Amino acid sequence: MHKPCLHNVVIVGGGPVGSVLALTLQQQHVPFTMLEARAKGASHQDTRALALSYGSRLILEKLDVWPAVEARATAINTIHISQRGGLGRTKLNADEHGLQSLGYVLPYGAITQALDAVLDASSIIYEAEATEIKPGQDTSSVTYSHANTTHTLQTSLCVVADGGRSLGEIEGIHKETKEYGHDALVTKVLAELPHNHIAYERFTPTGPMALLPNGDNDFSLVWTGLQANIHGLLALDDKTFLAQLHQAFGDRVGKFLSIEKRMSFPLKLSVLKPSVAPHLAVIGNAAQTMHPVAGQGFNVGMRDAWTLADLVINTPQAELGSADMLKRYSQQRSRDTRGGILFTDLLVNVFNNDLIGLQAMRGAGLGLLQLLKPAKNLLISKMSFGK
Ligand SMILES: Cc1cc2nc3c(=O)[nH]c(=O)nc-3n(C[C@H](O)[C@H](O)[C@H](O)COP(=O)(O)OP(=O)(O)OC[C@H]3O[C@@H](n4cnc5c(N)ncnc54)[C@H](O)[C@@H]3O)c2cc1C
Repeated sequence: MHKPCLHNVVIVGGGPVGSVLALTLQQQHVPFTMLEARAKGASHQDTRALALSYGSRLILEKLDVWPAVEARATAINTIHISQRGGLGRTKLNADEHGLQSLGYVLPYGAITQALDAVLDASSIIYEAEATEIKPGQDTSSVTYSHANTTHTLQTSLCVVADGGRSLGEIEGIHKETKEYGHDALVTKVLAELPHNHIAYERFTPTGPMALLPNGDNDFSLVWTGLQANIHGLLALDDKTFLAQLHQAFGDRVGKFLSIEKRMSFPLKLSVLKPSVAPHLAVIGNAAQTMHPVAGQGFNVGMRDAWTLADLVINTPQAELGSADMLKRYSQQRSRDTRGGILFTDLLVNVFNNDLIGLQAMRGAGLGLLQLLKPAKNLLISKMSFGK
């Protein structure tokens, strides 16, 4: 009888997280097949601004991909944190902490393009959309459609890195979700004054907003708030929007002069419990989605990919996807993931709260943080390396 071919590793989703896993395996000669729903190169024009931590830069350096993205990355050398209508502010400076920079802003398309350029195209099936994934005792099965035909692969390890929006519930994995009822508005703006590589994080009574240096003069704006408020902001004409932005943000970078297209997406905290099942692991945004307030989500996903790749490379083929291997993966990732979620959720709750007295406490907290170097070190370590 014909025995179906058993694949070592099948990765579902070739976004930045799936591709970092794929490239790490490729460099260590571990065979894999990656299924990507989009056509080759379709994501290269995606201008979504990713906040890349210094730790994620180190991963890209180890993969020798950093030189290809560096020219399109804008360094963040200072993070300025303040609250609207309240006292207290904190400044984090890279050089005070012995770092070259605190992080980078990078267009989504720049990272996918650089990864696609070095990935072996013969291991990737583009325009292949996974429709069903079933974990099993000996293997997992992945069903996908490609060129109007349905195929099924058996694999020792299926890694789901689809960003979390395409597949329904997977057997044995439960998703916990907390809706914030907030949306994020994202766009690019040009301000009167240069950014000088400063990222501004400003907490306002209606939600946090961030202005991140992106390119020579532009800022990427992430303005979060109640859905109704964000819908109202989307409906404004450019001139009125820029005036409202100036009012909410203050005068630190002068007036806002021009703006690109505004887009929005809903914010939620979601986490899979557990993120593994027999012969299956879920990584990146598919495993956890966080509020963008502290720029954690994407970087936690990068560390998922890096840790899983290391385990795959160091696990004998016969034990790939075994309960023991996946337990080790869960153990290695749980602290970082939980920490990222708690840290992000705490910031959202503390700063989105108008309780009497809380604004003064926040101001005192920011003022105190400004004075305490060990506390700043901890914050930077968490934001840069997840620990
Ligand atoms: C609308 C939107 C805007 C965002 N804006 C920002 C921002 O401004 N700044 C920021 O830092 N973060 C932003 N994020 C979050 C950021 O995009 C994620 O943190 C990051 O992309 C996660 O990478 P990933 O590889 O896990 O998932 P993704 O980047 O989502 O990649 C998933 C990949 O899987 C593929 N795929 C999906 N389903 C299937 C399937 N069934 N079969 C095969 N392939 C499949 C997709 O085509 C895609 O290539 C945004 C997210 C969304 C949804």
